[in-house]
Amino acid sequence: MSVRRWVWCGRCERCHEVALSREPATVDGVAETPWDLRDDIAPQLRTDASGKVRCHYDDCDGAMPDLWWWSDYRDTDRTAPEAPEPGTVYTMYA
Ligand SMILES: [Zn+2]
Repeated sequence: MSVRRWVWCGRCERCHEVALSREPATVDGVAETPWDLRDDIAPQLRTDASGKVRCHYDDCDGAMPDLWWWSDYRDTDRTAPEAPEPGTVYTMYA
């Protein structure tokens, strides 16, 4: 787990950092998403009472498919910082 990446949760719109075993690749011209690297990421998230993988933040019921790379979020908001503040809400439509 040598690669560190920020991910953004589309449900609570907050970020946290995850460790990956490799850089996300581009396969057939399509960049891998956090979902493609879920085997690395899911164990670093929370598991709720029913055993489902949930967002890093306790009060959020987001799940793996809600996660974006922070770099992809930044493509939608050029004013977003390179390194986000954990716990800060970064809205999609500010
Ligand atoms: Zn969340």
